[in-house]
Amino acid sequence: MHLTRCLSCLALLLSVALSAGAQAPASPDASSKLAALKTEAMRDIDSRAQFTQQFVDQVFSFGELGFQEFETSKYITGILKQNGFTVREGVAGIPTAWVATWGSGKPVIALGSDLDGIPQASQIPGVACHLPLVQGAPGHGEGHNSGQAVNITAALAIKNIMQREHMSGTIKIWPGVAEEQLGSKAYLVRDGVFKDVDVVLFSHVGSNLQTGWGASQGSGLVSVLYSFEGQAAHAAGAPWRGRSALDAVELMDVGWNFRREHLRLQTRSHYVIRNGGDQPNVVPPTAAVWYYFRELDYKKIKELWAIGDSVAQGAAMMTGTRLVSERVLGSAWPGHFNRPIAEDMTENIKLVGLPKWTAADQQFARAIQKEVKGDSTGLDTVIAKLEGDVPDSLNMGGGSDDIGDISWNAPTIVLLYPSNVPNLPGHHWADAIAMATPIAHKGATAGAKAQALTMLDILLKPALVDSAWSYFKNVQTKTVKYQPLIRPEDRPATELNTEILAKYRPEMKKFYYDPKKYPTYLQQLGIAYPTLRKADGSCAATPNTLQ
Ligand SMILES: [Zn+2]
Repeated sequence: MHLTRCLSCLALLLSVALSAGAQAPASPDASSKLAALKTEAMRDIDSRAQFTQQFVDQVFSFGELGFQEFETSKYITGILKQNGFTVREGVAGIPTAWVATWGSGKPVIALGSDLDGIPQASQIPGVACHLPLVQGAPGHGEGHNSGQAVNITAALAIKNIMQREHMSGTIKIWPGVAEEQLGSKAYLVRDGVFKDVDVVLFSHVGSNLQTGWGASQGSGLVSVLYSFEGQAAHAAGAPWRGRSALDAVELMDVGWNFRREHLRLQTRSHYVIRNGGDQPNVVPPTAAVWYYFRELDYKKIKELWAIGDSVAQGAAMMTGTRLVSERVLGSAWPGHFNRPIAEDMTENIKLVGLPKWTAADQQFARAIQKEVKGDSTGLDTVIAKLEGDVPDSLNMGGGSDDIGDISWNAPTIVLLYPSNVPNLPGHHWADAIAMATPIAHKGATAGAKAQALTMLDILLKPALVDSAWSYFKNVQTKTVKYQPLIRPEDRPATELNTEILAKYRPEMKKFYYDPKKYPTYLQQLGIAYPTLRKADGSCAATPNTLQ
């Protein structure tokens, strides 16, 4: 599956790399025109800094979880409609998914980024210790509140240039719904969203301005909910008449944990019990456990999933219960990213540079790093290198992103932009503290510039698009063909997180950002930036609610 296993692939790769170097526009005139347009786009994006900041702050304040991104999607599609985009809603049977299109003809550039937050990650922004805005509520503990601001700021700047210059091309903007559940992108692919797309530029929050090509570090996965059915009975009066579905869940977990010793070291798997019964004196008639099975390629993910199925069936047999359903809640192919586009983006990243961090930004970053016992390096000040292909032999697995599915359907790259602090745990309240502060705002502006400059290259250098497709067809998919992990009968798990939002949304609403009244979300909340732990160890802040 990987390049290192294939000598002819290496030769092809070299030829692609050599041709990638020769992608400048044909004439010196065209070249200087492109350079001038890039300068203009960067200036335009600087002039939109307040729009970008308010966008980041607004989505932060919604703090919605996967499949429940209703306020977020309403806000974003509203902006896109106001700016002349045609919006198709409810894409792929997902109420919070949409595709917004502007322009006409080739090339078709698809800009994507995720929308959703993390359970129990509610956090007052700008404060370097754990202080939830709403206790127990979700929040942006990954930073997905910033990516659509990056894309849409870039798109609006480039749209102006395209209009004035009468350029051919189509901009398609789409959301990563329920990325934390790996819940939507395979369905967007199945719905045909990427059929006519030439290049996909995906943006994801990071702590540097950077991209990569080839196989990425990490895993693909399938996410499966196993539901068992037993027989209720009085747990003390007639336990012999009961069959506990919870027993099946527990024995599945025990069986899986023994089996784990005999799986490949690259395998990662984890589970949570979604239904463990109602109360101890009722033998649980229903119970359910949710697994993530992670491996490095499609075949190994399927094999791991089959082992999970056999352990589940064994647990049902042992307990006299039935395995009644096996619902796929999400899936992700391992990502493989496009070399010519990543190299082009890297040149643009050098033009953009990292944001200028203030002493307050650095002080804030070091304080949270210390708070969560991460390396106290502050914010990055040197641009990271282009990441190359990670061969299987060096990939020990890790996280997953369903952008992987899209990357096997059209040339795709992921731009990381510096809106967050390095060395944090991930999926944690600490990852939320910077996400409505100047760090997130400046990082998003830098990301928008990198995205915009690469869009200009795609629009004005047809040879770049040709090389992207040459790499995609002749290197990436030469031997590996995409087949979805979702089965034909699977449907998006749009019911996920309904109860959590129903429970917390009324409290969360009191903290929604109102940009008509306050220039920034920190000002609305009345939070001084940065708020740090005091010398006596105390840490306190009281946010204002909307009046
Ligand atoms: Zn993410």
